[in-house]
Amino acid sequence: MLTVTSKLRKKINIAIDGHSSCGKGTLAKYLAKALGYVFIDSGAMYRAVTLYLLRNKIDLDEVKKDPEILKSIKIEFRFNPEKDYFEIFMNNVLIEQEIREMEVANWVSEVSAVKEVRDFLVQQQKAFAINKGVVMDGRDIGTKVIPDAELKIFMTADPGIRARRRFDELVRKKKMVDYDEVLENIRKRDDLDSSRVESPLVKADDAIILDNTNMSIQEQGQVALAWAKGVIAIL
Ligand code: C5P
Repeated sequence: MLTVTSKLRKKINIAIDGHSSCGKGTLAKYLAKALGYVFIDSGAMYRAVTLYLLRNKIDLDEVKKDPEILKSIKIEFRFNPEKDYFEIFMNNVLIEQEIREMEVANWVSEVSAVKEVRDFLVQQQKAFAINKGVVMDGRDIGTKVIPDAELKIFMTADPGIRARRRFDELVRKKKMVDYDEVLENIRKRDDLDSSRVESPLVKADDAIILDNTNMSIQEQGQVALAWAKGVIAIL
Protein backbone atom coordinates (compact mmCIF):
# COMPACT_ATOMS: atom_id res chain seq x y z
CA MET A 1 0.00 0.00 0.00
CA LEU A 2 2.78 2.34 0.98
CA THR A 3 4.49 1.64 -2.35
CA VAL A 4 1.34 2.36 -4.36
CA THR A 5 0.74 5.68 -2.57
CA SER A 6 4.29 6.86 -2.95
CA LYS A 7 4.24 5.86 -6.61
CA LEU A 8 1.11 7.94 -7.21
CA ARG A 9 2.77 10.91 -5.60
CA LYS A 10 5.67 10.75 -8.02
CA LYS A 11 5.24 13.37 -10.68
CA ILE A 12 6.44 13.34 -14.23
CA ASN A 13 6.75 16.01 -16.90
CA ILE A 14 4.76 15.61 -20.10
CA ALA A 15 5.91 17.29 -23.33
CA ILE A 16 3.35 17.67 -26.13
CA ASP A 17 4.62 18.90 -29.49
CA GLY A 18 3.12 18.93 -32.95
CA HIS A 19 1.61 20.88 -35.79
CA SER A 20 -0.54 24.00 -35.43
CA SER A 21 -4.18 23.61 -34.39
CA CYS A 22 -3.91 19.90 -33.64
CA GLY A 23 -5.54 20.18 -30.25
CA LYS A 24 -2.29 20.09 -28.28
CA GLY A 25 -3.69 22.59 -25.78
CA THR A 26 -6.91 20.62 -25.38
CA LEU A 27 -4.98 17.44 -24.69
CA ALA A 28 -2.55 19.20 -22.34
CA LYS A 29 -5.47 20.69 -20.36
CA TYR A 30 -7.16 17.28 -20.16
CA LEU A 31 -4.03 15.58 -18.86
CA ALA A 32 -3.20 18.38 -16.41
CA LYS A 33 -6.71 18.18 -14.97
CA ALA A 34 -6.78 14.40 -14.75
CA LEU A 35 -3.38 14.23 -13.04
CA GLY A 36 -3.60 17.44 -10.98
CA TYR A 37 -0.64 18.93 -12.89
CA VAL A 38 0.12 22.45 -14.08
CA PHE A 39 -0.59 23.25 -17.73
CA ILE A 40 1.82 25.57 -19.54
CA ASP A 41 0.86 26.73 -23.03
CA SER A 42 4.24 27.72 -24.50
CA GLY A 43 2.60 28.93 -27.74
CA ALA A 44 0.68 31.49 -25.67
CA MET A 45 4.04 32.85 -24.51
CA TYR A 46 5.22 33.36 -28.14
CA ARG A 47 1.85 34.94 -28.89
CA ALA A 48 2.26 37.27 -25.88
CA VAL A 49 5.64 38.48 -27.15
CA THR A 50 4.10 38.97 -30.63
CA LEU A 51 1.23 40.98 -29.15
CA TYR A 52 3.67 43.15 -27.19
CA LEU A 53 5.80 43.86 -30.28
CA LEU A 54 2.74 44.66 -32.42
CA ARG A 55 1.21 46.95 -29.80
CA ASN A 56 4.46 48.81 -29.24
CA LYS A 57 5.38 48.86 -32.94
CA ILE A 58 8.75 47.22 -32.29
CA ASP A 59 10.17 45.36 -35.25
CA LEU A 60 12.24 42.19 -35.08
CA ASP A 61 15.49 43.88 -36.14
CA GLU A 62 15.26 46.05 -33.05
CA VAL A 63 14.81 42.95 -30.88
CA LYS A 64 17.83 41.27 -32.50
CA LYS A 65 19.94 44.38 -31.93
CA ASP A 66 18.76 44.91 -28.37
CA PRO A 67 17.25 41.76 -26.79
CA GLU A 68 17.01 43.65 -23.48
CA ILE A 69 13.73 45.08 -24.88
CA LEU A 70 12.18 41.69 -24.10
CA LYS A 71 12.84 42.11 -20.40
CA SER A 72 9.91 44.55 -20.21
CA ILE A 73 7.58 41.62 -20.90
CA LYS A 74 6.50 39.79 -17.75
CA ILE A 75 4.52 36.65 -18.53
CA GLU A 76 2.60 34.67 -15.90
CA PHE A 77 0.07 31.84 -15.85
CA ARG A 78 -2.56 32.20 -13.12
CA PHE A 79 -5.06 29.49 -12.30
CA ASN A 80 -8.68 30.62 -12.67
CA PRO A 81 -10.80 28.20 -10.58
CA GLU A 82 -14.03 29.37 -12.24
CA LYS A 83 -12.72 28.45 -15.67
CA ASP A 84 -10.62 25.61 -14.31
CA TYR A 85 -7.82 26.90 -16.47
CA PHE A 86 -4.39 28.55 -16.31
CA GLU A 87 -4.80 31.97 -17.91
CA ILE A 88 -1.97 34.03 -19.38
CA PHE A 89 -1.16 37.52 -18.09
CA MET A 90 1.29 39.97 -19.61
CA ASN A 91 2.53 42.72 -17.32
CA ASN A 92 -0.37 41.91 -14.96
CA VAL A 93 -3.05 42.16 -17.66
CA LEU A 94 -5.12 39.19 -18.84
CA ILE A 95 -4.43 38.68 -22.56
CA GLU A 96 -6.13 35.33 -23.15
CA GLN A 97 -8.46 36.72 -25.88
CA GLU A 98 -6.08 39.15 -27.57
CA ILE A 99 -3.37 36.57 -28.27
CA ARG A 100 -5.85 34.43 -30.29
CA GLU A 101 -6.60 37.19 -32.83
CA MET A 102 -5.66 36.53 -36.48
CA GLU A 103 -3.20 39.44 -36.51
CA VAL A 104 -1.15 37.72 -33.80
CA ALA A 105 -1.53 34.31 -35.50
CA ASN A 106 -0.24 35.81 -38.74
CA TRP A 107 2.95 37.14 -37.12
CA VAL A 108 3.77 34.67 -34.39
CA SER A 109 5.80 32.23 -36.50
CA GLU A 110 8.10 35.02 -37.65
CA VAL A 111 8.56 36.18 -34.07
CA SER A 112 9.15 32.67 -32.73
CA ALA A 113 11.88 32.06 -35.33
CA VAL A 114 14.08 34.73 -33.72
CA LYS A 115 16.81 33.26 -31.53
CA GLU A 116 16.70 36.10 -28.99
CA VAL A 117 12.96 35.57 -28.47
CA ARG A 118 13.43 31.81 -28.05
CA ASP A 119 16.29 32.21 -25.58
CA PHE A 120 14.16 34.59 -23.53
CA LEU A 121 11.15 32.24 -23.38
CA VAL A 122 12.85 28.84 -23.24
CA GLN A 123 14.71 29.83 -20.09
CA GLN A 124 11.36 30.67 -18.40
CA GLN A 125 9.75 27.46 -19.68
CA LYS A 126 12.58 25.33 -18.29
CA ALA A 127 12.10 27.02 -14.90
CA PHE A 128 8.36 26.19 -14.91
CA ALA A 129 9.19 22.49 -15.37
CA ILE A 130 11.89 22.17 -12.76
CA ASN A 131 9.72 20.68 -10.00
CA LYS A 132 7.90 18.20 -12.29
CA GLY A 133 4.13 17.85 -12.51
CA VAL A 134 3.95 19.98 -15.65
CA VAL A 135 2.19 19.36 -18.95
CA MET A 136 3.65 21.73 -21.54
CA ASP A 137 2.66 21.97 -25.17
CA GLY A 138 4.50 23.61 -28.06
CA ARG A 139 6.93 22.82 -30.87
CA ASP A 140 10.27 22.20 -29.12
CA ILE A 141 9.20 21.00 -25.69
CA GLY A 142 10.41 17.40 -26.05
CA THR A 143 13.55 18.38 -27.95
CA LYS A 144 14.75 21.61 -26.27
CA VAL A 145 12.69 22.72 -23.28
CA ILE A 146 12.22 19.46 -21.34
CA PRO A 147 14.34 16.91 -23.22
CA ASP A 148 14.23 14.71 -20.09
CA ALA A 149 10.39 14.67 -19.95
CA GLU A 150 9.22 11.21 -18.91
CA LEU A 151 6.44 11.23 -21.53
CA LYS A 152 6.69 12.91 -24.94
CA ILE A 153 3.78 13.04 -27.34
CA PHE A 154 3.97 14.28 -30.95
CA MET A 155 0.54 15.27 -32.27
CA THR A 156 -0.56 15.59 -35.84
CA ALA A 157 -3.77 15.57 -37.92
CA ASP A 158 -4.87 16.24 -41.48
CA PRO A 159 -4.51 20.03 -42.26
CA GLY A 160 -8.07 20.29 -43.63
CA ILE A 161 -9.51 18.81 -40.42
CA ARG A 162 -7.36 21.12 -38.31
CA ALA A 163 -8.53 24.18 -40.27
CA ARG A 164 -12.17 23.10 -39.93
CA ARG A 165 -11.85 22.69 -36.13
CA ARG A 166 -10.09 26.06 -35.76
CA PHE A 167 -12.61 27.77 -38.07
CA ASP A 168 -15.55 26.37 -36.04
CA GLU A 169 -13.91 27.54 -32.81
CA LEU A 170 -13.44 31.08 -34.14
CA VAL A 171 -17.03 31.17 -35.45
CA ARG A 172 -18.29 30.04 -32.01
CA LYS A 173 -16.37 32.99 -30.59
CA LYS A 174 -18.17 35.21 -33.12
CA LYS A 175 -14.99 36.09 -35.01
CA MET A 176 -15.29 37.06 -38.67
CA VAL A 177 -13.03 34.60 -40.45
CA ASP A 178 -12.73 32.90 -43.76
CA TYR A 179 -12.08 29.12 -43.86
CA ASP A 180 -9.46 29.50 -46.62
CA GLU A 181 -7.62 32.12 -44.57
CA VAL A 182 -7.52 29.77 -41.57
CA LEU A 183 -6.27 26.87 -43.72
CA GLU A 184 -3.66 29.10 -45.33
CA ASN A 185 -2.47 30.28 -41.89
CA ILE A 186 -2.15 26.68 -40.66
CA ARG A 187 -0.18 25.62 -43.77
CA LYS A 188 2.08 28.66 -43.50
CA ARG A 189 2.76 28.08 -39.79
CA ASP A 190 3.48 24.36 -40.32
CA ASP A 191 5.92 25.32 -43.02
CA LEU A 192 7.68 28.09 -41.09
CA ASP A 193 7.80 26.08 -37.84
CA SER A 194 9.30 23.02 -39.56
CA SER A 195 11.80 24.84 -41.77
CA ARG A 196 13.22 27.46 -39.40
CA VAL A 197 16.86 27.28 -38.34
CA GLU A 198 16.22 27.91 -34.63
CA SER A 199 14.59 24.89 -32.91
CA PRO A 200 12.51 23.67 -35.86
CA LEU A 201 9.47 21.54 -35.17
CA VAL A 202 10.77 17.97 -35.21
CA LYS A 203 9.59 14.86 -33.46
CA ALA A 204 11.87 13.84 -30.59
CA ASP A 205 13.24 10.33 -31.19
CA ASP A 206 11.53 9.06 -28.06
CA ALA A 207 8.15 10.77 -28.66
CA ILE A 208 4.98 8.76 -29.31
CA ILE A 209 2.94 9.89 -32.34
CA LEU A 210 -0.72 10.70 -31.76
CA ASP A 211 -2.63 11.32 -35.01
CA ASN A 212 -6.07 12.55 -33.99
CA THR A 213 -7.58 13.05 -37.49
CA ASN A 214 -10.27 10.51 -36.65
CA MET A 215 -10.34 10.77 -32.88
CA SER A 216 -12.67 12.61 -30.52
CA ILE A 217 -11.32 14.78 -27.70
CA GLN A 218 -12.35 12.09 -25.20
CA GLU A 219 -10.64 9.32 -27.17
CA GLN A 220 -7.34 11.17 -27.50
CA GLY A 221 -7.50 12.09 -23.79
CA GLN A 222 -8.05 8.50 -22.70
CA VAL A 223 -5.25 7.20 -24.91
CA ALA A 224 -2.74 9.75 -23.63
CA LEU A 225 -3.84 9.40 -20.00
CA ALA A 226 -3.25 5.64 -20.22
CA TRP A 227 0.28 6.35 -21.53
CA ALA A 228 0.93 8.77 -18.66
CA LYS A 229 -0.37 6.35 -16.02
CA GLY A 230 1.76 3.62 -17.56
CA VAL A 231 4.88 5.79 -17.21
CA ILE A 232 4.02 6.84 -13.62
CA ALA A 233 3.41 3.21 -12.64
CA ILE A 234 6.91 2.12 -13.52
CA LEU A 235 8.72 5.08 -11.91
O1 C5P B 1 0.66 26.59 -30.10
P1 C5P B 1 0.30 27.86 -30.83
O2 C5P B 1 -0.27 27.63 -32.19
O3 C5P B 1 -0.50 28.81 -30.01
O4 C5P B 1 1.72 28.57 -31.07
C1 C5P B 1 1.81 29.76 -31.79
C2 C5P B 1 3.12 29.79 -32.55
O5 C5P B 1 4.20 29.89 -31.61
C3 C5P B 1 3.45 28.58 -33.40
O6 C5P B 1 2.94 28.69 -34.70
C4 C5P B 1 4.96 28.57 -33.40
O7 C5P B 1 5.42 29.43 -34.42
C5 C5P B 1 5.33 29.20 -32.09
N1 C5P B 1 5.78 28.25 -31.07
C6 C5P B 1 7.09 27.87 -31.07
N2 C5P B 1 7.57 27.07 -30.08
C7 C5P B 1 6.75 26.64 -29.11
C8 C5P B 1 5.39 27.00 -29.12
C9 C5P B 1 4.92 27.79 -30.13
O8 C5P B 1 7.86 28.25 -31.95
N3 C5P B 1 7.26 25.89 -28.14
